[in-house]
Amino acid sequence: MARVGFIGLGNMGGGMAANLAKAGHDVHAFDLSEEALANAKANGCLPVESAAKAAEGAEAVITMLPAGKHVAEVYRDSVFGIADTGAVLIDCSTIDVATARDVADQAAAKGLLAVDAPVSGGIAGAQGGTLTFMVGGTDEAFERAQPFLEDMGKAVIHAGGSGTGQTAKMCNNMILGATMIATCESFVMAKKLGLDPQKFYDIASVSTAQSWSMTSYCPVPGVGPEAPSDRDYAGGFATGLMLKDLRLAMDAAATVDADTPMGARATELYQKFAEEGHAGLDFSAIIKMLAHEE
Ligand code: NAD
Repeated sequence: MARVGFIGLGNMGGGMAANLAKAGHDVHAFDLSEEALANAKANGCLPVESAAKAAEGAEAVITMLPAGKHVAEVYRDSVFGIADTGAVLIDCSTIDVATARDVADQAAAKGLLAVDAPVSGGIAGAQGGTLTFMVGGTDEAFERAQPFLEDMGKAVIHAGGSGTGQTAKMCNNMILGATMIATCESFVMAKKLGLDPQKFYDIASVSTAQSWSMTSYCPVPGVGPEAPSDRDYAGGFATGLMLKDLRLAMDAAATVDADTPMGARATELYQKFAEEGHAGLDFSAIIKMLAHEE
């Protein structure tokens, strides 16, 4: 078992660090929040006083931070020049491709191995150790990161070179954002035309409209397996986070002149829903806006 530095113990990182400790690693954990540090301690991690202390002497340094600027700052101030040569740096945050590539280049220049390894699976996946990791980096960096990621997830996939993990994540979520809206608008229209939502589900879920948004996460309460719609859209994947990922996708699309009309429209609609005060609701709650319900 290894010494692991874990920086960023929020909704996602808290559960991930706990699973590493459960797997027997010596997890030196840091967060700016005292509450997050106390939770990490209760879950078998050793709270330390700074990000640099977490990185010091670690075989793997894992970051799970809000956005690219936090990752760039933490790497600059507390990881580069502190982590041992030979340590593998694993950033699991969802951030822009440019920052992911930039930190990987800086790491390589310092003789460190680094991967971008964003996740799919949400807070339940982080707590249950069932995340999917999409990993960008060299073969050597991937091989070093893989055992740590396997202790926190059910699937660890090498996407390609640096930044391809982030690319996979934002393209995945661009499809998710668009299919959720398409699923919501069809349920709303079907109901207005007099078709019972359960009947529509029974038909569409075994027809060509089937998707994860419909059959694993149905936006209509009481239809399909249990989902946030059954809990008045509490928990799940917040609209604000979906909007963050869609904006990252739109920025990335612009850098390569990719035509993404569905992604652009999904971004506009999620922005409107968030501005109406619903950023904290699960992203499937956008059905309320499309149905003109509050
Ligand atoms: P969060 O806001 O709950 O946690 C982020 C943590 O980072 C906070 O505890 C904060 O105190 C800490 N932090 C910020 N700056 C820091 C610094 N300089 N040093 C140490 N700690 C610092 O966010 P989250 O929901 O855990 O998400 C983390 C990342 O995972 C984000 O990039 C998010 O987009 C991504 N993600 C989230 C979900 C989800 O469902 N929540 C799903 C997939 C991916």
